[in-house]
Amino acid sequence: MSATPINLYDLTREELRVQLVRWGFNPFHTARLWNYLYIELAASFDAMPELPAKVRSRLTADAQLGVLATALETDSRDGFTRKYLLSLADHERIETVLMRYTGRVTACISSQVGCAMGCVFCATGQMGYTRHLTPGEIVAQAVHVARALRTAEEPHRLRNIVLMGMGEPLHNYDAVMQAIEIMRDDRGLALGAERITLSTVGVVPGILRLAKEKRPLHLAVSLHAATQAGRAALVPAAKKWPLDELMAACRTYSETTGRRIFYEWTLIEGQNDSAEDARAVGRLLHGLPAQVNLIPLNPTAGYAGIPTRTDAARNFQHILKEEFKLPSTVRQRRGIDIAAGCGQLAVAEK
Ligand code: SAH
Ligand code: SF4
Repeated sequence: MSATPINLYDLTREELRVQLVRWGFNPFHTARLWNYLYIELAASFDAMPELPAKVRSRLTADAQLGVLATALETDSRDGFTRKYLLSLADHERIETVLMRYTGRVTACISSQVGCAMGCVFCATGQMGYTRHLTPGEIVAQAVHVARALRTAEEPHRLRNIVLMGMGEPLHNYDAVMQAIEIMRDDRGLALGAERITLSTVGVVPGILRLAKEKRPLHLAVSLHAATQAGRAALVPAAKKWPLDELMAACRTYSETTGRRIFYEWTLIEGQNDSAEDARAVGRLLHGLPAQVNLIPLNPTAGYAGIPTRTDAARNFQHILKEEFKLPSTVRQRRGIDIAAGCGQLAVAEK
């Protein structure tokens, strides 16, 4: 018996095959087991009746299915958003959000318990950093949402993943990339390159590594200000990775991968939502393949700023489009009543 049971959600299909062989089983069982994990979305080894008894008993002894228990489940009033508070094996808790936009189901998943980056307006930043998630804990969140859709007999299956929950995904690079590898497997969850978006606060070495490794995903970069001083006031990580280095890394990323980057901009009234701010964004992103995602500030306990008014957001958007030919979207404010909006995810108590 191995000391720590292997979490099957930690393994790629190839790694699962190797593990089965190591246990002395025919690799032929890999496809069926993988099918149970990611197509049938089995929640226990008992729900895998077509595996031979000897395989199942080995799994029961030496492996585990890292299914996450729901500690709390909350639906937003408009019914478009559902927030899950999920318990990890060490009793830490994370949040995962199911979002429905125009008939498409997206899971917003976490990469860490808390976050070390300390952005002033973000509830996760305000709670501080506890630990990284393992690949299996990241994958398990996607499985959880897929299974919930199945159980509720909803017509839609899980289509997209955004790594925009708790945590900074590029601070937990290896685990996140392993999880993506597992989630994109086309015989499993099949969440391929066009279906996964990773949002980073601007971890420069991570962005360059994504480019070098040509990782199959959409990249979103949290900008929030177009000057170094303005950005450092909102995003402490900007002191470590200054704006000019960040923009150089973004340019390298787009040139190497041929991909456009989404630039996120949390709109805070009187702070970064003026016409001049919009022009500064336009100048900063000039010549880059870019789309701007404007996110009206969501309230958090630890930050006094207030959201931009709708007309200011529209004006911001108008300037980007008319003066700089920059496409942008204003993110719909959904799930605010259950604190499931961007940056509102935090776990108050254990
Ligand atoms: N750590 C990553 C991803 C998680 S946050 C990152 O920072 O990019 C996802 C997005 O929500 C980021 O753009 C973040 O800046 C933004 N955000 C955080 N707190 C927010 C708040 N209170 N209101 C609106 N957007 C917020
Ligand atoms: Fe961390 Fe992102 Fe929140 Fe900043 S915005 S504290 S990087 S989760």
